[in-house]
Amino acid sequence: MGRRAREARLRKDGDPIPRDGRGETRDAAVPAAAMPLLAWFDPSRRPMPWRETRDPYRIWVSEIMLQQTTVAAVIPFYERFIAAFPAVAVLAASPPDAVMKLWEGLGYYSRARNLHEAAKIVIGRHGGELPSTAAELAALPGIGLSTAGAIASLAFGRDEPVLDGNVRRVVARLLGMRRDLARPASLRALWDASRELILPGKGRETALALMDLGNLVCTPRGPRCRECPLESVCRAHRDGMAEEIPLKVRRKPLPHHDIVVAVIEDAKGRILIGRRPDAGLLGGLWAFPGGKREMGETLEAALAREIEGDLGIGIAVGGKIGAVRHAYTHYRVTLHAYRCRPTRAIPRASLDAKWIAPSRLGEYALPRSNRKIADLLA
Ligand code: SF4
Repeated sequence: MGRRAREARLRKDGDPIPRDGRGETRDAAVPAAAMPLLAWFDPSRRPMPWRETRDPYRIWVSEIMLQQTTVAAVIPFYERFIAAFPAVAVLAASPPDAVMKLWEGLGYYSRARNLHEAAKIVIGRHGGELPSTAAELAALPGIGLSTAGAIASLAFGRDEPVLDGNVRRVVARLLGMRRDLARPASLRALWDASRELILPGKGRETALALMDLGNLVCTPRGPRCRECPLESVCRAHRDGMAEEIPLKVRRKPLPHHDIVVAVIEDAKGRILIGRRPDAGLLGGLWAFPGGKREMGETLEAALAREIEGDLGIGIAVGGKIGAVRHAYTHYRVTLHAYRCRPTRAIPRASLDAKWIAPSRLGEYALPRSNRKIADLLA
């Protein structure tokens, strides 16, 4: 049976997992998988700096960095971050710019803001000790249910389930789940199964085993079922559906926006950067001023309008420095950067606006797209 035919059958059949009287998903594959999963787990298989410690703070930092980011990408950021902020008290007492600077390039900057905010709460309300239960952890900024489960199990040895992207895929395949995983009923069944996989006292090992299995064996494409400890109990493998689960839900293509950016130079050769408001996308980072081109506008007209509106100054738009592309979670942008000169009074420096020599751009935390423009300037 071809892939299209299998997908059509999946949609027609729906979810084959039997349900119990409470409407919750039950499947014998789950308890049968717990032992082979643990037997397969080998702590030396994937050495990582945060696995060599039980320090809750370090595990917390690593789990936040690992959201949406690969292990290989996280390691150098983690090591620099821990060297600069070796304890929660140091992080809490540090200025926001220092935290953002060390996060620069890792993306999803609200993670850094929330981590910093949560560190202050840990100092102020929890006596400097990270709470140990998943429920208390999930009450802190930036800690979702899966991250809370990971910290509670990895740092405190609690029997709490995890359900990050990799674990979700493994459990969905184990269950042979033939529906959109984002649906609330799917999520409930996945959480139940993830919890049911934990043998008493084995929360830490189970969480690590599931994470490793998702990374090394039950990969998004080309899962290696022959090497998998769950091969004999996995529903997706039994039904020849490993590649089709999770179901691919068709999403709309991401919208694209043209963003115009001004590198405004004063008579001394200094350039203007502004600090973005804490709330919102890229909050707390420094960036060149600019904004979105509206329908029918030229890039130059859009730039003059944005700068007049935001800074209250007129500019002469000069030569184009270049264009850089960037993709965010919900849209893509092309940034068009121009050299500009103020034609009227220049904005004063303030807490949120600075005139700096271009050579000092490296001292400020910039979004990746703005860093590319800084590189073009250099
Ligand atoms: Fe994933 Fe295949 Fe293992 Fe099932 S048998 S959990 S699909 S690798």
